[in-house]
Amino acid sequence: MRKITLIPGDGIGPEIASAMKLAVEATGAEIEWEEIQAGSEVTEKYGTPLPDEVLESIRRNKVAIKGPITTPIGSGFRSVNVALRKALDLYACVRPAFSIEGVKSNYTDIDLVIIRENTEDLYAGIERMVDENTAESIKRITRRGSERISRFAFEYVKKHVRKKVTVVHKANIMKMTDGLFLKVASEVAKEYPEIEFEDRIVDNMCMQLVIKPQIYDVLLCPNLYGDILSDLSAGLVGGLGVAPGGNIGDDYAVFEPVHGSAPKYKGMNKVNPTAMILSAWMMLDYLGESTAAARLLEAVKETIRKGRKVTYDLGGNATTMEMAEEIVRHLS
Ligand code: NAD
Repeated sequence: MRKITLIPGDGIGPEIASAMKLAVEATGAEIEWEEIQAGSEVTEKYGTPLPDEVLESIRRNKVAIKGPITTPIGSGFRSVNVALRKALDLYACVRPAFSIEGVKSNYTDIDLVIIRENTEDLYAGIERMVDENTAESIKRITRRGSERISRFAFEYVKKHVRKKVTVVHKANIMKMTDGLFLKVASEVAKEYPEIEFEDRIVDNMCMQLVIKPQIYDVLLCPNLYGDILSDLSAGLVGGLGVAPGGNIGDDYAVFEPVHGSAPKYKGMNKVNPTAMILSAWMMLDYLGESTAAARLLEAVKETIRKGRKVTYDLGGNATTMEMAEEIVRHLS
């Protein structure tokens, strides 16, 4: 049995985490949970939304899955999610976006994966007020950061038998920072001659994704463009309720849905568990549980395609748990 750290999170997190557990356990995957709390509800007890035992558990188990966690506004703590990525050096954010029959969207044939560098760029948070009316932020890109995310993207393509990497940048204007990212990605691409490689300027990329998203495969992005393109791509395939993600480093991986804690739906057992369950699908694939992963994905697709027991955002009136139970029925 492989032990996995499970962080239910806050807001709608515990509801979708229970739904995910039900579905994953029914796949027969050889895993057991070490459940541990983080988020706004533990702040009072521990004085922090990220107690040390959370990081200790992930370091011990190497792999975690988490529900969303509310980012406190105006407190000293920037974000549990950002802190986790930093502490565990989870440098690759992987966000698949693919069409699922039955999910309302303008496209039916999208199959994209966004691979976003998670540690550098404007996200490093190096900002300062120059004076009362002027603020600055530093965009930091390194060869090491660019090289490891580029290699991750090409290895991902190899492992998942995909075809093409498109590196996204604005090197025509940010010649040094984005120029370095593009240069390093192009160098790494030479080590993988069997994989098609191209580049797109980020503004053109946005337009292309709206006009002909079908021709793209894996998008390799620096942090900020990756953040924006991930949401754009989630929108192309039907929105946040079905968008899974994983934050992966050399030693650890934390899987989580793209959406947040949706506080207004907390406790209503109403939201869509798909993004969380598909995050578990990514985790099973990462763990090498490929049969369980493939069965889970098929069961999710079948449940949505049939549309009998789906949540409000997919046009149904099933509860979170009823949808998870329907997914389990389609596993057998
Ligand atoms: P959100 O994703 O929580 O919710 C926005 C809206 O999207 C919801 O009101 C709801 O209509 C819809 N939605 C989200 N998840 C859904 C689901 N599973 N099923 C159906 N509909 C769903 O975004 P927000 O309101 O901007 O953020 C709320 C909190 O979550 C904030 O504190 C934010 O910082 C945090 N957040 C956390 C994470 C994370 O933990 N990784 C990610 C994003 C946001």
